[in-house]
Amino acid sequence: MLNFNLSPELIVLQQKAREFALQEVLPLAWRYDQRDETSQEIIRKAEAAGLINGDIPEEYGGRGFGCLEAVILTEELAAACAGLATSIFDNSLGMEPLILCNNEALKAKYFPKILNDKKYIAFATSEPTMGSDVASLRCRAKRDGDDYILNGTKYWVTNGGLADYVSVFATVDPKSAHAGICAFIVETAWEGVSAGRPIPKMGQRTSNTTAINLKNVRVPKENMLAPPGEGFILAMQTFARTRPSIGAFAVGTARSAMEFAIDYAKKRKAFGSKIADFQSIQLKLAEMYQKVETARLLVWKAAWECDQGVDPNISASISKMYATEAAFEVVDQALQVMAGYGYTRFFPIEKLLRDVRLYRIYEGTSEVQRIILAGHVLAAYQATMPPLEDLAIEQVAHGEDPSATKTTGPRWRCRVCGYVHCGDEPPDECPYCFFPATAFKAV
Ligand SMILES: Cc1cc2nc3c(=O)[nH]c(=O)nc-3n(C[C@H](O)[C@H](O)[C@H](O)COP(=O)(O)OP(=O)(O)OC[C@H]3O[C@@H](n4cnc5c(N)ncnc54)[C@H](O)[C@@H]3O)c2cc1C
Repeated sequence: MLNFNLSPELIVLQQKAREFALQEVLPLAWRYDQRDETSQEIIRKAEAAGLINGDIPEEYGGRGFGCLEAVILTEELAAACAGLATSIFDNSLGMEPLILCNNEALKAKYFPKILNDKKYIAFATSEPTMGSDVASLRCRAKRDGDDYILNGTKYWVTNGGLADYVSVFATVDPKSAHAGICAFIVETAWEGVSAGRPIPKMGQRTSNTTAINLKNVRVPKENMLAPPGEGFILAMQTFARTRPSIGAFAVGTARSAMEFAIDYAKKRKAFGSKIADFQSIQLKLAEMYQKVETARLLVWKAAWECDQGVDPNISASISKMYATEAAFEVVDQALQVMAGYGYTRFFPIEKLLRDVRLYRIYEGTSEVQRIILAGHVLAAYQATMPPLEDLAIEQVAHGEDPSATKTTGPRWRCRVCGYVHCGDEPPDECPYCFFPATAFKAV
């Protein structure tokens, strides 16, 4: 049975996250944005409020939250500040490979440290020379006895400057692409690991983003998340479970932009009326609302699939792609409603516009989501409609009665114009487009 009601537990979680976002995050968001700095204090408070690490499995002392809890939480946090939400959510991204891997000893080693010792864990597939094409990563993992030696630079690592641990994806042989990729948990305190300076960004300036440099870093084999050949799949499985949360970030940011625009439209006057009375402004608000609601439905569906054990890859891509693109349009329209003031730093929309732009880039660009979806529709999608050549419409359009001819004897379809000829042999030429017999295919 289909049910869109949140459970009582999810409603409590939503309320808690909303209160935290409004009381702790919103009042400081612009200050940290101005400083181009994240706030460890807010991240620690989110941790104390139980808004981080909920996804650690119950058998390791966690609360075993699923994707639905994650999207409910992240919508609320991102509504207050996208950058801080990104930094707060980053433990979930960094931890997802550990949740998904088969290395039980590694789980037993790190989950309690993350939970009890309040450690941060980041995620690193990207490098200075690659992002979308994960199979082409270059960070080297060389076997040395029972250990691996890592050399390379990971780039764009969210919370790279704060992280105690990083889920690092590397390769034993860059030439073997997917087949060479492996993954490890690397401790940033280990010799040879260093974080770069914070990367100056257009938006989401309240999240920390740095390079992580690895120079002859010795990683014990027991820290392996995925052996060579399994790292690429682990990275993709991780994204399939975290992309709905990026969609939820987008819903949160779009929702705030819409609410600010509604508020402004009710108060601002032009030509003797409130601008909310103008139909063109009303249409903008209606479209914003439609996009926020549609995006949330797609996000919830993808999250629900994750929690049902259904492969969430396709729904995750749809939700990420739709919600992040819709959110950009909503924020842009909100700025249009607020016009001149919307463009200033006196009002919130310019930050939202800078922040929202990133959603279409990280965790797989919009182009990458389209590649995934195109691959699905061309290879795996199960059509309900019969093939084109089986449609009676062609014969009707060509002036014939399909009921008289369709079921008996061989049939030949003109590949050019669709004309169907009944008979043992194809005609010498098509009577409609005059292509020769070679254009006819038996159907
Ligand atoms: C603020 C920020 C935080 C980030 N956090 C993390 C993190 O924590 N961990 C991490 O590992 N990464 C992180 N990233 C990296 C992010 O995931 C990448 O930026 C993203 O995957 C795109 O990679 P790229 O920037 O190298 O672009 P490229 O892969 O170089 O792509 C450039 C352009 O080409 C397009 N393109 C590429 N291939 C194709 C194709 N086959 N067909 C059509 N178009 C194509 C892309 O869509 C894009 O428009 C972060 C990035 C940013 C900006």
